[in-house]
Amino acid sequence: MKPAPFDFLRAETLPEALDSLAEAGDEGRVIAGGQSFVPMLAMRLARPAVLVDIMGIAELRGLDRGRGALRVGAGVRQAELASWPDLAETLPLVAAALPYVGHVQTRSRGTVCGSLAHADPSAELPLCLIALGGEVHLRSRKGRRSISAQDFFLGMMATAVAPGEMIEAVSFPLKKKGEGYAFREIARRHGDYAVVACAAVATTTGVRLAVGGVADTPQMRPMPLPGSVDLDDALNDFAWALNSREDLHATARYRRELVRQLGRATIEEAVRCRD
Ligand SMILES: Cc1cc2nc3c(=O)[nH]c(=O)nc-3n(C[C@H](O)[C@H](O)[C@H](O)COP(=O)(O)OP(=O)(O)OC[C@H]3O[C@@H](n4cnc5c(N)ncnc54)[C@H](O)[C@@H]3O)c2cc1C
Repeated sequence: MKPAPFDFLRAETLPEALDSLAEAGDEGRVIAGGQSFVPMLAMRLARPAVLVDIMGIAELRGLDRGRGALRVGAGVRQAELASWPDLAETLPLVAAALPYVGHVQTRSRGTVCGSLAHADPSAELPLCLIALGGEVHLRSRKGRRSISAQDFFLGMMATAVAPGEMIEAVSFPLKKKGEGYAFREIARRHGDYAVVACAAVATTTGVRLAVGGVADTPQMRPMPLPGSVDLDDALNDFAWALNSREDLHATARYRRELVRQLGRATIEEAVRCRD
C-alpha cells in the first residue's frame, strides 16, 4: 500500500515547525527518523493531513549534560546517543539497553524522542526513562511544559503529547554514586521488540524494578532487596498486577514467569553493580 496524500514540511526552524503543528491541530504529526511512522503511513494506520519533518532543525540536535541529567534533543538519533563517549559512565542503564533497540540500521535513523513518542509497550527507551524517573519536555506555539515519565505514557502507543504539541527533548537522570543499574530482555531474535524487558535501579536504600512488554505501558515498583524472604512474593504480585497481554509472541502465563525470573536476575545484577 501507499500512504494517503499529505502535505509535507521540512522545517528548518522550531517556530516554523510549531506554527505548522498549531495550524494543523489534530491533523498534524511530526516525523523524525521515520522508522516506525513510515510503515504506519504506508499501511494507512496513520493518515495525517500534514507531516512536519523536524530533522533539519539544528537546535533539536543537542546532547546537553547539566543539572544531574542528560538532555537529549528531539533530533538526536539513537546511534548518536549510543556513541556519546560519556554514556556508559553516566547513563549505564541506557548504555546497556540501546543495543537492544532494533538494529544498527534502524538506530542510525531512529531518534530517542521518536521512540518515546511512538510508545510501544515493549520499547526499551521508554522503560529506561520510567526506571530512571526521567522527564519529557514538550513544546507548542503556546509554550513549554515538562512532564514526568510516569505521567507521559498513557496507554499502548498513547502519550500526553497534545494536538499542536511536540517533544522538544527528554532528560535522563545521570548515575548517582552508590547506585547500580541493570537491563535484561527476552526477545524472539536480537533486535526484535522485547517479549519482556526489565530494568532495575539499586540505590543505597532499596531497589526498583521496571517492566516492559507486559502491560500497555512500562510499569515500575519498589522491590525488596535480594536475600529478603519477601522478594519472590513481591515479584509474583507484580507479575499478576501487570495484567499481562497475550499475543502471538507469548502467552500471559509465560510473560508472568519471565517477570519473576528475569525480574529477579535483573535486580540481583543491579545490586551487584552498586559502586
Ligand atoms: C525492523 C525494526 C525493528 C525495530 N525494533 C525495535 C526494538 O526492538 N525496540 C524499539 O524500541 N524500537 C524498535 N523499532 C522502532 C525504532 O526504534 C524507531 O526508530 C522508533 O520507535 C521511532 O523513532 P523515529 O525517530 O524513527 O520516529 P518516527 O518513526 O519518525 O515517528 C514515530 C512516532 O513518533 C512521533 N514522533 C516522532 N518524533 C516526535 C517528536 N519529537 N514529537 C512528537 N511526536 C514525535 C511520530 O509522529 C510518530 O507517531 C524498530 C523499528 C524497525 C523498523
